[in-house]
Amino acid sequence: MLLNPLTLHLPKTPLEAARLYKELEDSKVLAGGTFLLNSMKLLKTKGTKTARNILSLAHVDGLKGVSFQGDTLTIKAMTRINELFESPLPDGHLKILHAVCRNISTNPIRNMATVGGNLTCRYTWTEMGAVMIALDAKMHFLGPDGKEEIMAPEDFFKNAARSEKLFTHVTIKTGQAARTAYRRVKKTIHVDIPLLAICVKTEIKGKKWYNTRVGINNGVAFAQRDPILEEFLNNSSSSANLGEEALEHLTKTIYDTRSTDYKQHMFRISLKSAIEELCHSRESGNP
Ligand SMILES: Cc1cc2nc3c(=O)[nH]c(=O)nc-3n(C[C@H](O)[C@H](O)[C@H](O)COP(=O)(O)OP(=O)(O)OC[C@H]3O[C@@H](n4cnc5c(N)ncnc54)[C@H](O)[C@@H]3O)c2cc1C
Repeated sequence: MLLNPLTLHLPKTPLEAARLYKELEDSKVLAGGTFLLNSMKLLKTKGTKTARNILSLAHVDGLKGVSFQGDTLTIKAMTRINELFESPLPDGHLKILHAVCRNISTNPIRNMATVGGNLTCRYTWTEMGAVMIALDAKMHFLGPDGKEEIMAPEDFFKNAARSEKLFTHVTIKTGQAARTAYRRVKKTIHVDIPLLAICVKTEIKGKKWYNTRVGINNGVAFAQRDPILEEFLNNSSSSANLGEEALEHLTKTIYDTRSTDYKQHMFRISLKSAIEELCHSRESGNP
């Protein structure tokens, strides 16, 4: 199907892209295109107007790639999900990113979809948001004046994933002696969007839990932290019962949102098993 007439803008540098992002009216950003192109075709079949200006980031080299500088991992916005999956990551808690990428949709989608698109597309169920919250990542945005703004992902999602500035990259500290556990549940056995996604990161000294961060995606609201569960876990020690006890200390509104009994149950067993995995990883001395 042919799209409605449009003007395609192809900036070459991040700054040029950031300026166009601010200046262009009636516009949409094109990253991997897996959502945008679908939605433009869908709107056209419904007879609804589509954006006149498309700002493609395809030719902006400065927005691509995964790299390390000192103790910081940088993932640029136009990095494809499969490129992140294939990038070497240090042993330890950041390896969770490979597991997250591997579970997203299918190879054709992972070959096109970008990390930036996943974080900024404003579909509430995409998974990277909860993971970036748990990993204590920082999201970087570029304004038309060349000034960078850095935001915690939980703040970006609190603001309904809206930004006046172009998202350019995410950074994560690598040097933490942290452990992570990730759970996602889908509705059917087929390739399907996730019903929920959970990521827990913690540091365990002796058996005591520190600096725990819990990122939750309930699928119907933007990803968020669970502060009540984090506080409980930060005052806890690894034990056989910790997973079960933790379920009495949840920020209930996160899990209640439009939840069926099945979804509530899946939240509970997923959280419990993620916490048990972290308790076990300490006991067995796994990284
Ligand atoms: C069939 C299918 C199955 C999927 N399954 C999963 C899944 O299981 N789990 C999961 O997490 N995701 C899933 N996704 C989502 C996918 O991983 C992508 O994240 C998503 O499609 C958007 O990425 P994109 O690069 O294609 O963005 P595009 O479609 O190109 O862009 C979408 C929008 O994102 C915004 N945007 C993109 N980049 C920037 C930027 N740098 N700055 C500002 N705004 C920007 C713009 O508003 C843009 O219009 C699925 C997608 C499809 C089509």
